[in-house]
Amino acid sequence: MTSPDVRDAGRWDAVVVGTGFGGSMMALQLVRAGLRVLVLERGRWVDRDDSAWDTRAVLVDRKYRSVAPVVVAGLKPIYPDELVGGNSVIYGAASLRMREADFTMGSLLSTATRPERAFVDWPIRYADLEPYYGEAEQLLGVAGVAGQDPTEPPRSGPHPETPAPYGSPARALADAAAARGLHPFPLPLAINFAGRGGRAPCIQCLTCDLFPCKIGAKNDLAVTVLPEAIRRGAFVRPRAIAERLLVERGRVAGAVCVDADTHERFMVRADAYVVSAGAIASPALLLRSGLGALEPNGRLIGRYLMRHCSGIVVGILLRRTNPERRFHKQVAITDFYFGPAGAAPDAGRDWWGTIQSLQVPPAEYLTSHAPFPIGQIGAATLEHHLSVLCVAHDEPNPDNRVALHPTRRDPYGHEVAHVFHRYSARDRGARRALYCEAARVLRQAGARLRIRKPIATFSHAVGTCRMGEHPSGAVLDPWCRVFGVPNLYVVDGSFMPTSGAVNPSLTIAANALRVGAHISAGWSTVRRRTEMA
Ligand SMILES: Cc1cc2nc3c(=O)[nH]c(=O)nc-3n(C[C@H](O)[C@H](O)[C@H](O)COP(=O)(O)OP(=O)(O)OC[C@H]3O[C@@H](n4cnc5c(N)ncnc54)[C@H](O)[C@@H]3O)c2cc1C
Ligand code: SF4
Repeated sequence: MTSPDVRDAGRWDAVVVGTGFGGSMMALQLVRAGLRVLVLERGRWVDRDDSAWDTRAVLVDRKYRSVAPVVVAGLKPIYPDELVGGNSVIYGAASLRMREADFTMGSLLSTATRPERAFVDWPIRYADLEPYYGEAEQLLGVAGVAGQDPTEPPRSGPHPETPAPYGSPARALADAAAARGLHPFPLPLAINFAGRGGRAPCIQCLTCDLFPCKIGAKNDLAVTVLPEAIRRGAFVRPRAIAERLLVERGRVAGAVCVDADTHERFMVRADAYVVSAGAIASPALLLRSGLGALEPNGRLIGRYLMRHCSGIVVGILLRRTNPERRFHKQVAITDFYFGPAGAAPDAGRDWWGTIQSLQVPPAEYLTSHAPFPIGQIGAATLEHHLSVLCVAHDEPNPDNRVALHPTRRDPYGHEVAHVFHRYSARDRGARRALYCEAARVLRQAGARLRIRKPIATFSHAVGTCRMGEHPSGAVLDPWCRVFGVPNLYVVDGSFMPTSGAVNPSLTIAANALRVGAHISAGWSTVRRRTEMA
């Protein structure tokens, strides 16, 4: 079955691949139920030393960069960062819930008038996730204020923490938006402003988004959920790459892994396997494991890739925008979520998305990443910038996909992920509408120039193993189990049938808690399924 050079590395109740929002929440949920859980992670623990806030180390020299590229058609290859805790370690900590209507987007945006529209309903509703959103907010210590977000879904309790007061740039943005009749509110953030749990409180620096937090005040998974899972008995194995799953008689019988440092191969076995390697790496792993041949859903693995149609509008003001040089990614505007300000979700119009304040990047990052002379001009005017992020809904399209590259291999000999993605005219239209609204707010705040810049990254990738009611249209069932492989689950952002227009992490976390609770509650059935194989 396996070659003799693959060492047997033991048997567990559950093996989880990846320590991002999906994998960490799942590991915690399973270990709380008393299961023996092994968590495989190809990255390593982050160094909480001076290098964490060093632009050169993190963004220019790319200290945590993977050796395995993702090849993107029409763009340069991407080398993601690899860390225990996944992207949570370097993320911006914005922690919003999806809107209630996001779960029935297919029905609300009638297909009668636009037959080509690909939006679908989720097989679950917001109410199914609501308790888990609450639990995720508790685990991540989200600081927010309920009742001010005009499209906020119902919630059964307040946020666990209170946000910090606005800094100058956030105050300028919020005042300008309010003057235009909008309803800005404090962006919910998974940041420890109050020193929760005896940990160091946030010192409100300017190296948050894109950077690890040196003092552990960002409530990333490596300082919150994973330590708790480990305390309860989960075994987290850094630098362990899941190479492929062995599928025998319709069940996963083992995971072949490779040690990222020694290149030694080893095999782990379990009753249940949870893949949570991120929306690009997870479909690649499933395809490397031969699951593309599954009937009838294997052909859907990797398809419907979404990444939000996002962009930045940089306002340039005559005055210095942040003289105190304080953290200021603090404001959100959701008035345009369903189209023009105040539009109802069922108004039969295209939905747009959210606008959020954005941390101004370090000068060294601009000069090293933007083409000459744009980077130099940007760096020279940086103290006068007021930037916002526009996050637009994007359509699920089967042609936007993750496949395996036909020839390119990484240093471990794995076929690398090959990504194909194009936005539709609808996606670009939604982003354009948000750009215009954001520019109006920035002009109101005093911006003399307003510069738009699309975001080309896949940092919000979702949708590549979507869940649904039926295998003819989905890879996963409503409990995120792969149709046709009863002991295999996928719980990273791949599961999402539509992207919504809020940053995805809290939804991925809440869903993993939901699925983890389901697996734990029905553990004897899960085990029986494996024994029957
Ligand atoms: C710079 C940046 C800022 C962001 N800011 C925000 C924000 O403010 N708010 C928000 O909601 N979202 C934000 N996001 C997006 C958010 O981080 C992601 O949506 C989220 O982390 C996805 O979680 P996940 O569980 O799907 O996967 P990931 O976080 O990608 O975790 C997957 C993990 O699996 C590991 N892995 C991959 N392949 C293998 C393998 N074969 N074997 C073992 N391990 C493997 C990876 O190393 C990684 O640790 C941001 C992203 C970036 C990059
Ligand atoms: S702003 Fe706060 S949470 Fe973010 S990196 Fe700085 S200290 Fe850490």
